Amino acid sequence: MDAARPIVPSGFESAPSGEGAPRATPVMEQYIEIKAANPDCLLFYRMGDFYELFFDDAEIAARALGIVLTKRGKHLGRDIPMCGVPVHRADEYLNRLIALGHRVAVCEQVEDPAEARKRGGKSVVRRDVIRVVTPGTLTEDTLLDAKRNNYLLAIARARVSVGEESRFALSWIDISTGEFRIAECDRAGLAAEIARLEPGEIIVSDALYGDAALAPYLRSLPAVMPLARDVFDGATAERRLAAYFGLATTESFGALSRLELTAAAACISYIERTQLGSRPPLAPPVREAQGTTLAIDQATRSNLELVRTLAGERRGSLLAAVDRTVTAGGSRLLAQRLAAPLTDPDAVGMRHDAVEFFVADATARAEVRERLEAAPDLARALARLVVARGGPRDLAAIRDGITAAAALAAELEKRTNLAAELAQAARALRRLDPALARELDAALAEELPHLKRDGGFVRDGFNAGLDEARALRDESRRVIAALQARYADTTSVRALKIRHNNVLGYFVEVTAQHGERLMAPPLNATFIHRQTLAGQVRFTTTELGALEARIASAADRALGIELETFDKLAAAVTAAAAKIKEAAEALAVLDVAAALAQVAVERHYVRPQLDASLDFVIEGGRHPVVEQALTADGGPFVANDCDLSPPQSAAHGRIYLVTGPNMAGKSTYLRQNALIAILAQMGSFVPARRAKIGAVDRLFSRVGAADDIARGRSTFMVEMVETAAILNQAGERALVILDEIGRGTATFDGLSIAWATIEHLHETNRCRALFATHFHELTALAANLPRLFNATVRVKEWQGDVVFLHEVAPGAADRSYGIQVAKLAGLPPAVIERAKVVLAKLEAEDRASPRDFDELPLFAATPRAPSPHAAAGTLIAALAAIHPDEMSPREALEALYALKAKAAEDG
Ligand code: ADP
Ligand code: MG
Repeated sequence: MDAARPIVPSGFESAPSGEGAPRATPVMEQYIEIKAANPDCLLFYRMGDFYELFFDDAEIAARALGIVLTKRGKHLGRDIPMCGVPVHRADEYLNRLIALGHRVAVCEQVEDPAEARKRGGKSVVRRDVIRVVTPGTLTEDTLLDAKRNNYLLAIARARVSVGEESRFALSWIDISTGEFRIAECDRAGLAAEIARLEPGEIIVSDALYGDAALAPYLRSLPAVMPLARDVFDGATAERRLAAYFGLATTESFGALSRLELTAAAACISYIERTQLGSRPPLAPPVREAQGTTLAIDQATRSNLELVRTLAGERRGSLLAAVDRTVTAGGSRLLAQRLAAPLTDPDAVGMRHDAVEFFVADATARAEVRERLEAAPDLARALARLVVARGGPRDLAAIRDGITAAAALAAELEKRTNLAAELAQAARALRRLDPALARELDAALAEELPHLKRDGGFVRDGFNAGLDEARALRDESRRVIAALQARYADTTSVRALKIRHNNVLGYFVEVTAQHGERLMAPPLNATFIHRQTLAGQVRFTTTELGALEARIASAADRALGIELETFDKLAAAVTAAAAKIKEAAEALAVLDVAAALAQVAVERHYVRPQLDASLDFVIEGGRHPVVEQALTADGGPFVANDCDLSPPQSAAHGRIYLVTGPNMAGKSTYLRQNALIAILAQMGSFVPARRAKIGAVDRLFSRVGAADDIARGRSTFMVEMVETAAILNQAGERALVILDEIGRGTATFDGLSIAWATIEHLHETNRCRALFATHFHELTALAANLPRLFNATVRVKEWQGDVVFLHEVAPGAADRSYGIQVAKLAGLPPAVIERAKVVLAKLEAEDRASPRDFDELPLFAATPRAPSPHAAAGTLIAALAAIHPDEMSPREALEALYALKAKAAEDG
């Protein structure tokens, strides 16, 4: 957003003033006045069938939309840049401007041009901004993604004294669904909340936007809008919030701090501002208590690919893998729940109960899903109708939604063993009044136009006046057909036609050769010449003129009655808004429960057991996304166990140190356990044979820089900053996933950092953790850290090649198999052979003069893991006899061959 854009369009502010300077035209004067009132928006200025943009706006829009920039006359001696978009395609262009973060003020003609003319020749048609379109306040389906919420987020900060931690209040609203929430957080939580909500637009006070500490972060976010202080005024906040809901106080919303009220009132004020007074139906604000949701920061979210992959696609994400919802509302709720898993085992248990019901009762699941498929997007249709942006199809959506709701409630009430969440949904569905659906159904035609101004949406027989007007209109059309036949007869021009266009209205048309005859007596007494074209001549007649007037007035009358009917129906819907909103939520709840049951049955997920312990037992766990990709290719996914529960006599959970060669499946194993925790706590069943999880309160996942190229900032610095965040924040309830940390720097640096990190996690954070590493030296740490366990992803060597088993087993990897993996990857054989020689030399040198790590417990305290081979003894003896420093490369190679032969004969 270009905050520095001048209020007065360029080309005007520096214009010469005083005597003799040319004056602005009246239209320009009106334009400039309206533009000055909306300085931070592009102004869509309605002129006939176009929205025109002028001055800087025109230049910005022309560039953004790739449309032609022209000039329109001169203003104060300068050319006025101009571009325009046709009204009937305005949505499409709006969409693109909004996606680019622009805001658009839509300025319409608010009176009939005929009215303006009555005021005198020079009068300008009255115009006014009827709506400000911003990224966070959209309601149109064409501008929204049906499967995602679109939030407007307000951030308010409390004033604190020096040295104190800042506190923030957040309030967010999706005006297309009416959801309204409030929460408080600290600075670290702020980024995590924004990452969770992914708001379409963020509003902050000017002061906060200018704050030195926060500015770089705020400016890195899309669509942040600084606003004048009054919007964030704490003193008037409660009053503004209460007024929106037509209440005297906000007490019924529960205890809200002044800071929370400020954020909530800012949201409300901004909505009133952009919707110009109309009030979308909002649910009363719900305060999200701190600690009720599993905290997941931005890096962890993107790293675990929760709602989209690192490449930015929905396909391949966890959400896509488990989404079996059949309604848009259900899809949005699922995404919301996935973004904010819960920490309270009882609350999660309620959701699991609902899923379990649908797992157990396949018939109920099928019935409910089938009925849901027929249910429209109630929430968004309702929001549009209430802000007077709805169309006939939105009315039909409400009707169909009410009908579907009644059918679903009946279906559910048949069962006696309904889970509490479902019973509650059924009650909300029952509260809808079927009479409203009947009223809508009686009025609406079968085929509905998109826009109400097109007419034709009220059923025949619904309104006597309308039927009469329509009959007259249709009758007149028949009369015109008869008239055409009669004129053809009297003129003896068989090809004579009566046609219609927008300029002339109805007219008689004959070919040029017959034109002369109609213009000569006696026919010219009837036919009045209007227009001569290349091949045709056009006429009108008094009779035709009278008929046309009758048709037009009948059509006008019909449309008037239809619009009146529309308004009445919309008012009836608005009156029932609160119940319809609750029913819409209930439909989403049903959809999510049935959909999670569907995926659980399809993919053999089990109900996880969630409690307040620090346990973490996964038996036969699978990666929900990789598993689906593999089974699609026909390959099996190898299930693995994980137990991070506190070992006997310990008060804190374990850390697994996972080793194994590249491609063995370390990263997959780490992520699958994190994803299982997320699925469990969002209320889903999980891909495992059994799962028992002590509720996790924070989840962290980091990948070493070398593995993290997709994020486009694969620097060691980022890796360290993120690791620091974990070590500073993770408590005993956290679950930490560290994948190859320390990879982005030199070996010894990296090893030391990884070393110290594990010690810190073990001694200070005391959290449950999974740490994958290629530093085998780290496995020695287990000897000194009682809650550190070594695990390895097994591979098998077969005829010099490595075979990946993807099996996680206790113990440490015996070696890296880097060269074997390189061979699999297709490195030229010469390079592979040479690498083997170098490796042998390096390893031999290492043995001849071991690195001196005496200071560290590592080599001092830990014996090397015993070799699995019986032949190891003889091989070690043979190795000890070799003195690499005294060998030529050739001799070394020969020695290596000899060793290998020995190994083969002994093994
Ligand atoms: P690492 O991190 O050890 O290099 P990855 O976790 O990236 O290995 O896994 C490499 C590939 O192995 C994955 O893309 C996947 O196709 C396959 N894989 C991993 N784990 C399993 C498993 N448990 N069962 C089957 N295939 C697996
Ligand atoms: Mg990996």
